Amino acid sequence: MDFGFTETQVGLVGRAAELARRIMTHELRCDEDEGLPAEVLDELRAHTLELRLNAINMPAQWGGQGLGILDQVLVQEQLGQLTNALWDVVWRPANALRACDEAQRERYLLPAIRGERRDCYAVTEEGAGSDFTAIRTTATPEGDGFRLSGRKWFVTVGDAADFLVVLAALGERREPTLFLVDKDLPGVRIERTPRYMHAFVYKHPIFDLDQVRVGPEAVLGAVGAGAELTREWFVEERLMIAARASGAAERALREATEWALHRRQFGRRLVDNQMVQAMLADSAIEIASMRALTYQVAAECDAGLSRKLVHAKAAMVKTLASEAAGRVVDRAVQVFGGRGYMREYPVERLYRDIRVDRIWEGTSEIQRLIIGNEIAKRGLDGLLHASVGAPPAQVAPPAQVAPPAQVAP
Ligand SMILES: Cc1cc2nc3c(=O)[nH]c(=O)nc-3n(C[C@H](O)[C@H](O)[C@H](O)COP(=O)(O)OP(=O)(O)OC[C@H]3O[C@@H](n4cnc5c(N)ncnc54)[C@H](O)[C@@H]3O)c2cc1C
Repeated sequence: MDFGFTETQVGLVGRAAELARRIMTHELRCDEDEGLPAEVLDELRAHTLELRLNAINMPAQWGGQGLGILDQVLVQEQLGQLTNALWDVVWRPANALRACDEAQRERYLLPAIRGERRDCYAVTEEGAGSDFTAIRTTATPEGDGFRLSGRKWFVTVGDAADFLVVLAALGERREPTLFLVDKDLPGVRIERTPRYMHAFVYKHPIFDLDQVRVGPEAVLGAVGAGAELTREWFVEERLMIAARASGAAERALREATEWALHRRQFGRRLVDNQMVQAMLADSAIEIASMRALTYQVAAECDAGLSRKLVHAKAAMVKTLASEAAGRVVDRAVQVFGGRGYMREYPVERLYRDIRVDRIWEGTSEIQRLIIGNEIAKRGLDGLLHASVGAPPAQVAPPAQVAPPAQVAP
């Protein structure tokens, strides 16, 4: 087992840390204004291109960075330190867009990789959240194309994006199908933009699709391939959520530790109290654990672990990291006392930001169902062992042990 980074990875982490540092200067403004002005976003876009961190998940031959999953995790971990979800200004087009045909690639994906266009992914509806197969958005065949009708909730980056990837049920057979939908098409409308617990750099509007006419060239992948492409998106996103949660947790712990080392009460430093030390220690334990598992599963993905096992392991990683990060940030708020409740302190913002990680891309309960299902179907070995490339070895049954020889009295 090799736990070291390659030289290339050290350089990659350095670039991601530098980008995070540059973006961090805009956190407070983003929190106060619930977003950033266009000129700042343009500046951050230029930094992203300069540091070669645009579209890290897309192949190099199309202009992306062509990173494997582990390398993407390393980048996301650095960006995860940022409050107000400012990691999202560093665009990573939805992996479903890899299914673009040549014409779609020219029109949507290549400009999205360059940062000239932006996608958003519209699956969830008022009545279809954890169970996305219950969607009511329909695609009705008409001529050689389709009419899309429905309403999509929580569409992250829907304010800044200029096209949507929409999951709809096609025809009478309700075949789950993804469509590329330009936001300026007649019938596409932002119905309203609710406010959320976090002050995200972008918004999550509700979209109304009213008889939106699209041609056959709008189908992404193939008719009926929408559920599978969406599941693949979930899996990759779950690992990235875990990576960002590790970054957020580490920042919170570093802030809390620094505070505990300098703040004095009762004539001594906070860190000299064992109850404070215990909070810091518990957080260090949890961060080291979530990071180790995230790296392991990311490396397994790169080594070609079976898709079913990746699905279950990504669920384990997301659950562990999102729940542990929630506890770590909560303790950091506690160490800061009253200041931990003030918005100008990063730990307060992280506290609001981190909560959604237990909800989006599948709630903690849904992750547990996925893990439980894997245990019921294929057992524990794959989940409990690192199985890089090859199927996991069965744990050998206990060897027949010969009865101890009688020791002569
Ligand atoms: C800030 C934000 C951004 C989002 N961005 C996007 C986006 O860009 N695109 C998109 O399509 N969606 C997005 N979502 C939607 C998100 O993925 C859903 O909110 C999530 O999947 C849960 O669905 P739901 O809210 O309908 O909750 P529900 O499915 O109604 O679940 C409610 C509760 O019931 C539990 N529950 C449900 N079924 C079961 C079960 N079988 N067993 C046990 N417990 C169960 C859930 O775990 C949860 O605790 C976003 C959500 C938020 C909050």
